[in-house]
Amino acid sequence: MMNTKILPHEYSFIRKEVLNLISAYSSVNGRDVIDALQAIATEHIDALVADKPASLTALMQTMLDVKANRVTIEPALQTLKDDVVPFEQPTGKQLEKVFRKVKKLKQPEWETMDLRDDSFLGWNDPGMGRKYVVIRNESGQLQGAYGVIEPTVQKGVCAICQTIGNVSLFMAITKSGGDGTYTKSGNYICRDSNRCNRQLSQLDSLHAFFETVRAK
Ligand SMILES: [Zn+2]
Repeated sequence: MMNTKILPHEYSFIRKEVLNLISAYSSVNGRDVIDALQAIATEHIDALVADKPASLTALMQTMLDVKANRVTIEPALQTLKDDVVPFEQPTGKQLEKVFRKVKKLKQPEWETMDLRDDSFLGWNDPGMGRKYVVIRNESGQLQGAYGVIEPTVQKGVCAICQTIGNVSLFMAITKSGGDGTYTKSGNYICRDSNRCNRQLSQLDSLHAFFETVRAK
């Protein structure tokens, strides 16, 4: 039997759909409206995942119970999370190779990260005021970008996860400048990349972000 798996951003998408539906149970009156919302959530998840693991089928059944709440749905969400393919952890050497020009690269704090949340790796070096981001491209190769992350935090939309939260201005250091030059335009992104990953429910904006920070 094939063991179907889902990706971190798919898990985020499903979780968001499920929690939105469940919060409607306590705020919306009228069976018709509830029926419609259940149909929409089901449709969205069906469209996302064609080949569902059993854990997802079970979660979708649980979410249709109008008595479900954030607490009672949690075990089903956790079971689904066991079917998420984690970001494959690179070695320290591999990361040093990605950021060849960086001396004394700060490594991610793996113990604070759940790689099942991660569509990308993102970590800060507070001492240097820098953020590092790494993705795997379609052929599985690691690609990285790094830059200065401003110390100020403000409320805004993150360029990566497209969610309103605590963002800081990120100015990429491009490859082109021999000793590291700044791109003219920065992006506001979540200061906390662990949180960013948990909120990331589609990959388009992540890839668009990478295009801008790696450009030239
Ligand atoms: Zn974000």
